[in-house]
Amino acid sequence: MARVYNFSAGPSMLPESVLIKAADEMLDYEGSGQSVMEMSHRSKIYESIIQGCESLLREIMNIPDNYKVLFLQGGASSQFAMIPLNLMNGSGKADFVITGQWANKAYQEASRYGKANIVASSKDRTFSYIPELDKSTFTPDADYFHICVNNTIYGTRFAKLPETGDVPLVGDISSCILSEPIDVSKFGLLFAGAQKNMAPAGLTVVIVREDLIGKARDITPTMLNYQIHSDNGSMYNTPPCYTIYMCKLVLEWIKNEVGGLENMKAINEKKAAILYDFLDSSKMFRGTVEKKDRSLMNIPFVTGNDELDAKFVKQATAAGFVNLKGHRTVGGMRASIYNAMPVEGVEKLVAFMKEFEAKNA
Ligand SMILES: *Cc1c(COP(=O)(O)O)cnc(C)c1O
Repeated sequence: MARVYNFSAGPSMLPESVLIKAADEMLDYEGSGQSVMEMSHRSKIYESIIQGCESLLREIMNIPDNYKVLFLQGGASSQFAMIPLNLMNGSGKADFVITGQWANKAYQEASRYGKANIVASSKDRTFSYIPELDKSTFTPDADYFHICVNNTIYGTRFAKLPETGDVPLVGDISSCILSEPIDVSKFGLLFAGAQKNMAPAGLTVVIVREDLIGKARDITPTMLNYQIHSDNGSMYNTPPCYTIYMCKLVLEWIKNEVGGLENMKAINEKKAAILYDFLDSSKMFRGTVEKKDRSLMNIPFVTGNDELDAKFVKQATAAGFVNLKGHRTVGGMRASIYNAMPVEGVEKLVAFMKEFEAKNA
């Protein structure tokens, strides 16, 4: 069967050249006579994989030396608990901007450990915009300030970061990591589940400023303590070895084939513009998000007619454009066009949408 264009919000497409390389190395990684899946994580050869992955990530994201990179498990969702357990240990307060379900989950989890404060929310209009922030509502002595930088479900993103002064900014970048350059130094901590833009599922990347490590509450389980993972080079226990290997291949793809994050951004802007321009000109389809807050990665759209939406998703699937059904809270469709989605996939989707519109007008 021909490969489909997969518009899933995650897990999502991987670059074809990465899959080919992984297949090629499946039985014998670099003459070792074994698959990376079979290797001891303590072996010399595996060490070069995990260290290579970290140094590529540092290089590509321009991560300053005073930040640690941790390769963890448990998904981005585990970070919703791990962050308060490790950081909410000064005033016991933290600020949250509620821009969707992921931000809300982070807020709810943190509420179990301390005083979680909502500084703004866009719930009133189904999270279709990023709310304006008023600095006077920020908690001056908060232990951290949490935002979800790209809102996977609703298709919004923070184009401008909140200015939190000395309060460490925590960013959930699960669905936008590596999609464009990001100034790591503006954050105290960044985290991402890998399955959207980095690798298959199973790996969670945490980038944390060193001074925020070592402050965990006494009750913090060992496996949820950043210090433990930092002291042990992400090898306190068995890391997700194969996923880290795949992440390294994806990083090599970004560096060598794409040419870095500036180029990645230009490609992603081009893809997004193809779809948004069509949505803005179509009489049948429209985007659901305020223009200024539109995501480069996740693009929800609707026809306004549930039956027509369902018909579209069904016909698109048959034509090889899969996983376009929108999240149940928004309805309609959502095209997630992460790094590995080729420009041609978006062009063909738009051509298909035009055809559908002409036939069903
Ligand atoms: C997918 C996603 C999550 C949840 O990730 P898991 O790895 O499944 O826990 C959290 N935040 C954002 C922004 C996401 O897109």
